[in-house]
Amino acid sequence: MSAEATKPLASRLWTFVKPHRAGLALTFLAYLGAAGTEWFIPKLTGYVFGGGFERDAFHLAWIPVVLVGLFTVRGLCSFAGQYLFQWTLTRSVMDFRTALVESLLRLDAQVYTRMQSGAAVTKVVNDPQQILWLLGNVGMAALRDGLPAIVMLVFLFQLNWRLTLIALIVTPLMGWLMRKVNHRVRRVASQAYDAQLDLANRVEDLARAWRVIRQFGAVPVERQRFAEVAQSVRRNSLKTSAASALAQPASQFVASIGISLILVIAVWQIRTTGEGAKAFAEYVTALLLLISKLRHLSDLSQPATQAMVIARGCMELMDAPKEQDQGTLELPGPAKGDIELDAVQLTYPGATTPALDGLSLRFAAGQTTALVGASGAGKSSVIHLLLGFDHPDAGAIRLDGQDIEQLTRASLRRQFAVVSQDIVLFDTSVADNIAYAQVRDEARLEAALKAAHLWDFVQTLPEGLETPIGANGSKLSGGQRQRVAIARALYKDAPIWIFDEATSALDTESERAVQQALEAWQGRKTLIVIAHRLSTIRAADCIHVLGNGRLVESGSHAELLARDGAYAAMVRAQSAEG
Ligand code: ADP
Repeated sequence: MSAEATKPLASRLWTFVKPHRAGLALTFLAYLGAAGTEWFIPKLTGYVFGGGFERDAFHLAWIPVVLVGLFTVRGLCSFAGQYLFQWTLTRSVMDFRTALVESLLRLDAQVYTRMQSGAAVTKVVNDPQQILWLLGNVGMAALRDGLPAIVMLVFLFQLNWRLTLIALIVTPLMGWLMRKVNHRVRRVASQAYDAQLDLANRVEDLARAWRVIRQFGAVPVERQRFAEVAQSVRRNSLKTSAASALAQPASQFVASIGISLILVIAVWQIRTTGEGAKAFAEYVTALLLLISKLRHLSDLSQPATQAMVIARGCMELMDAPKEQDQGTLELPGPAKGDIELDAVQLTYPGATTPALDGLSLRFAAGQTTALVGASGAGKSSVIHLLLGFDHPDAGAIRLDGQDIEQLTRASLRRQFAVVSQDIVLFDTSVADNIAYAQVRDEARLEAALKAAHLWDFVQTLPEGLETPIGANGSKLSGGQRQRVAIARALYKDAPIWIFDEATSALDTESERAVQQALEAWQGRKTLIVIAHRLSTIRAADCIHVLGNGRLVESGSHAELLARDGAYAAMVRAQSAEG
């Protein structure tokens, strides 16, 4: 855990507000100004009634001037107060969100497999706003009621300090009780927050998987599942409210004990010393006022607790393990592309059997190497390791003779262009998807589009290259999405090309694009093809057959057929299907 992670929640939240604290101070001054005008109103009324009805007391024009002036000042102050408060809030929220997204962008690969995207959206989009808004309001209310409470306390001390000290004895008791209640509020509020996240995830699923839901006639099932989660959210928020509603009667109960105690003593004092009833009335009025202020302050504990519960969730995201980037070396330029796995061992957390079990194999520079094997054999895990998303538990992976653990992740990943079977596109234009995170070059774009058999299609689009393709490319067909992904890899022009062939057959257009790309690169780049359809890799220089995380056999298509082992059996099985 980082040093940051061990700091108390409140001080971590303060780090986002601190740079904008001037705004907070000005907000305070503005509200003070607005409150100050209140003081003039009774004063002025008093002045008018005091002598203002006499002829020539003052020019009548002063009435609108003073009144309008006063309300203008008040209006300006309260506008400034609200504006400055929002100014501080929006800036702090933005910083908070930026820090959360920064963390999201650097999470360890393992965290993503556990995390639901709905939770990430809630934690970055809604939570920072809600936390700081809640706390901001608590702070303002604390000022509004806290300042008069302090004044009242001073007043009480000066009236009768002995009695006031006795009154204060009740305070620790009240504090203890509040802590008990707050503890319960925090616990149930935590459950309520988790239930809320579940709800967000369910709804996200509903929006994302709408096709599957309709196809499977699963609307009643989903409705039922949603109802369960919604029910749990309802139950938990009711529990939270009940727990915090308990706080008020409990504190009033304790306060009533204190008040009776004080009254007994005060009345007794008056009876014995014969002090005036006036002092008594003054004292009790001030005391009741103080208690009512304190009661308002105790009402603030619920939103404050609520904010802390939500903050805890955000901090979990902020503290989730980051990707380790311990490498320090940078490859000077494009790699030759010679890759060697040396007795690589990999067991995923929680798995009982290793995904890769002492795997040694080579992807020779400038050659095409295919990885085949049954599903679960470990093909994707090899790619996962090559790209530095995980680290071998034992053994080493070398690129051009250099252990990849010693390379910076950025330098390592620059060497690879990947077309994976799960296609990830962004909600931007065709051009931005292809020249993704790279300098845009029209000639290179055209070449990539032509090589991916997309050029003619793009010409028919209303805005050509600038046409938006929808969330994850929803406005494109399956084949077009695949070809955009291919064009993106072509555009990157890395020395090593990984092609994770889709299990489902590609459309003919995409298949031709793939074949031509493979042919064009063959001999010039290091090509790694994860093949499901063995027909595509006949021409590969070398085929590695994996089984249960181990290398079963290697060789060219002809060699492996001659050997009549696992590969030959797979070929026979596929041609029988075909
Ligand atoms: P292939 O790509 O050949 O189908 P994988 O490399 O995806 O095989 O998987 C190898 C083994 O590792 C499988 O048994 C799979 O269940 C397991 N595995 C893959 N990814 C994870 C993960 N993130 N967590 C736990 N186990 C995993």
